[in-house]
Amino acid sequence: MSSPTRITHVIAGAPWSGTAERTSEVFNPATGEVSGTLDLASADLVFEVVATAKQAWRDDWGHASLARRTQVLFRFRELLNRDKERIAALITAEHGKVLSDALGEVTRGLEVAEFACGIPHLLKGGFTENASTSVDVYSIRQSLGVVAVISPFNFPAMVPLWFVPVAIACGNAVVLKPSEKDPSAAIAIAELWREAGLPDGVMNVVNGDKEAVDALLTHPDVKAVSFVGSTAIARYVYETGTAHGKRVQALGGAKNHMLVLPDADLDLAADAAINAGFGSAGERCMAISALVAVDVIADELVEKIKDRMGKLRTGDGTRGADMGPLVTAQHRDRVTAYLDAGVEAGAELVVDGRDAEYDADGDGFFLAPTLFDRVEPGMSVYDDEIFGPVLSVVRVASYDEGLELINANPYGNGTAIFTNDGGAARRFQHEVEVGMVGVNVPIPVPVSYYSFGGWKNSLFGDSHAHGTEGVHFFTRGKVVTARWLDPSHGGVNLGFPQND
Ligand code: NAD
Repeated sequence: MSSPTRITHVIAGAPWSGTAERTSEVFNPATGEVSGTLDLASADLVFEVVATAKQAWRDDWGHASLARRTQVLFRFRELLNRDKERIAALITAEHGKVLSDALGEVTRGLEVAEFACGIPHLLKGGFTENASTSVDVYSIRQSLGVVAVISPFNFPAMVPLWFVPVAIACGNAVVLKPSEKDPSAAIAIAELWREAGLPDGVMNVVNGDKEAVDALLTHPDVKAVSFVGSTAIARYVYETGTAHGKRVQALGGAKNHMLVLPDADLDLAADAAINAGFGSAGERCMAISALVAVDVIADELVEKIKDRMGKLRTGDGTRGADMGPLVTAQHRDRVTAYLDAGVEAGAELVVDGRDAEYDADGDGFFLAPTLFDRVEPGMSVYDDEIFGPVLSVVRVASYDEGLELINANPYGNGTAIFTNDGGAARRFQHEVEVGMVGVNVPIPVPVSYYSFGGWKNSLFGDSHAHGTEGVHFFTRGKVVTARWLDPSHGGVNLGFPQND
């Protein structure tokens, strides 16, 4: 076993050279070994980083031309594309998801960088000539200053990339606080910004826990916070950040339902349920965890899913397995506890993930795909966000009962309907109270030029991530009313200006 690597902050383009008062361990979840020792930032260090970022914004990047910003963005896009396999390997080593899945995550993040390359077009304002006689009016959007991004463990590259390229393209300086469980992908990405020619101090990474987050949420020079994580922390971040005068977008947890109507192609629906239920070991905010089956097809659908589950291989993500481990031993134990809770509550355990074998060395944090049938609201397997490879089938009598179930859920991140009936699909997309809807698409993550975000307890704040909402979030509007003086404009008039 090799000794753990030190993992530290990236401040003004360089690794931090200080000595941390507190550290935490980073694991390889496939082997259970400690692979890294992470420096945790104190509040004082966070204040220093914010000051560095503010200076870089005030003295340079906040005034950089769009031409210059775009050149950096294009170079960053090329470098990220060049290094995507290397970053995917870092993700697999610390998160555990299989390599192909990790590469998919980086690619979706890359698409946001590509979107941000179009920033000159996205920041074009309006212009009205002669709004009043000889008076022109125009609108511009300007950067905010220092913005903070706080990201979760489950997408260590993609979630930072939802925000950072857009924030930088808009002319802001960024302090990113990645998850302390798998920080290395974010650090590698920060280094690429420097190589792309971004001035030092515009992109910084501080590692840490609640102390670092609280320092960012309360610092007067942090103007905006983009957070992604669990609902309880998202609510806290939103309330604390807004109480300190910041704009905040805080994306929270999820419980995503997939409704299968009797006319659906059940083979396609079974494939989709497997992919969306067990991809990334169910540790996706868009994972399907509740499969809502209309009664008449439920037995057949459960059989098809069970069949497919028998062929899934769970193991080390570098060895070609379908599904990797969970992120930590504690999380694996928490997820496993739901299996007993489900049985006790009366659900039918169709496939028990504890019975499986794993292709891995050491003592990794594994739990194989698990299937429950006859799950009902009120059971903890249904009510809680489990965030693991546990798929629950809930049987309903009709479309209306399925819709009612989904709309009664406190979360509203993603959902999907499987049907061949265009009218039913159209009705569903109109009636369902969820932010992202799939029609025969089980993980409807919007492309980068649309915006990502849920409803209800899945998002606190007004703005979704990336797309035009992201550009709005990272800029503030200004309207200029201009008149170039000529002699006819003279004369004193204390009345409120009227247009003529
Ligand atoms: P988490 O809430 O534990 O952590 C998220 C971030 O908050 C991390 O950077 C962490 O260091 C920080 N944090 C943790 N506890 C804190 C505290 N008490 N005070 C201040 N900061 C704190 O979430 P996680 O376990 O890393 O990620 C999984 C969760 O994220 C799931 O609930 C998942 O649904 C959610 N998620 C949501 C989306 C979305 O788009 N809605 C996307 C990805 C993940």
